[in-house]
Amino acid sequence: MYKLLGEDKMAKAGELETVHGVIKTPVFMNVGTQAAIKGAVGTEDLKQLGCEVQLSNTYHLHVRPGDEIINALGGLHNFMAWDRPILTDSGGFQVFSLAAFRKIKEEGVYFSSHIDGKKIFMGPEESIQIQSNLVSTIAMAFDECPPSKADVSYIKNSVDRTTRWLYRCMEELKRLNSCDSTINKNQMLFGINQGGVINQIRIEHAKIISEIDLDGYAIGGLAVGETHEEMYNVLDAVVPHLPRNKPTYLMGVGTPENILEAVDRGVDFFDCVLPARNGRHGHVYTSHGRLNLFNEKYKLDDSSIDENCDCPTCKRYSKAYIRHLLKVKEMLGMRLCVMHNLYFYNTLMKNIREAILRGEYKKFKDEMLSKWEKQ
Ligand SMILES: [Zn+2]
Repeated sequence: MYKLLGEDKMAKAGELETVHGVIKTPVFMNVGTQAAIKGAVGTEDLKQLGCEVQLSNTYHLHVRPGDEIINALGGLHNFMAWDRPILTDSGGFQVFSLAAFRKIKEEGVYFSSHIDGKKIFMGPEESIQIQSNLVSTIAMAFDECPPSKADVSYIKNSVDRTTRWLYRCMEELKRLNSCDSTINKNQMLFGINQGGVINQIRIEHAKIISEIDLDGYAIGGLAVGETHEEMYNVLDAVVPHLPRNKPTYLMGVGTPENILEAVDRGVDFFDCVLPARNGRHGHVYTSHGRLNLFNEKYKLDDSSIDENCDCPTCKRYSKAYIRHLLKVKEMLGMRLCVMHNLYFYNTLMKNIREAILRGEYKKFKDEMLSKWEKQ
C-alpha cells in the first residue's frame, strides 16, 4: 500500500507499506547483487548507513547458490540476516546483457550461464518462481530490455511481448502467493515500462501498463548508453502517464545529479551500483563534490572525507589513512569508502524527502547542484 505524503510540482514523497516494513520515498535501494554489497559491507552496517531497502539479483542468485537453496534456508531475509524490504530484479537485464548465447521466443529466453555455459531457460513464470523462492518483498516483472540501437519495429514488437509477459507474471505471482508452501504470500509486483528512447512507444506502453493494477511502475532500459538529456527527455514524456499514487522506479540510475533531476520529474525509487563501485576505486562523494582518494594531495591530510558527514568512516578515519589502505590494497580501505558512499546516497535521499515535504525541492536541488559544480 503506497501513500503519497507530499508533492512539490512533479516531485513526490511517499511511503510504501510492505510485510517487511515501510519504505520512505524517494529512496535509493542499496545494491547487493549476489546477496551482499560489494566491498565487505554487512547487513548490520546497512542499518547504520540508513539503508531502507536492498536490491538483489535474481539471475545471479539463481545461478549461485540457487534459489531453491536460499528458499530451503528460509529466503533471502533469513539467509542475509536482513529484516527490512528487499527488491529482486527479474533477471531479464542480466539475461540480455551477460548471457553468451540467447534466443528470445514468445515463451521466454534460452541462454547459457555466464559461469559454466549450462543451458538455462527463463520466461515470465520461471522469473517469478525464482523471485518467490528468494522470498523478496517486491518482485519485478520479466521484461526484455531491447538494445538501445535497435530499430523501431524491433522495439515495438519487443515492448508488445513485454506486455504479454507482464500478464503472465501477474498470473504466476497470484498462483504462487496463494500456495501453502510460499513463504511470502504478500509478495508485490512492479511492472516495467520499455521503449528505448522513442517517446511515442514509451507513452503508449506506459498507458497500457497503468491500466493494470500493479504495486509499482518501473522505467527500464535507460542508463544504458544514452545521454543524460535523452534520459530526462524520456522521463518528461513518460512519468506523467504512470500512476501518481504508486511508486515510480527508475531502474539502474544513477549519479547524485541524475537522482535530483529524476525526482524533479516524479521518480521516487532508484538503484545503482555506482556508489559501491566508485567507493571500491577510492572515489568518494562529499557535500562539495567528488574526491579521488588516490590523489597525492591527501598523503598528509588527517581530516575526514567530509567534515559534514556523520558516517562510521568519517567519524573515525582520515583521508591519509584511507588513501594508504587503498594503495596497499587492504580490504578495509574499500569497505570504508563504500560505507561512506552508501551513507552519502541514503542521506541525500532523506534530505530530498524532507525538502519535498517542506515544499522547497527546487531550492534544495539547485543548492546541491551548485555545490557539486564548484568542485
Ligand atoms: Zn562519511
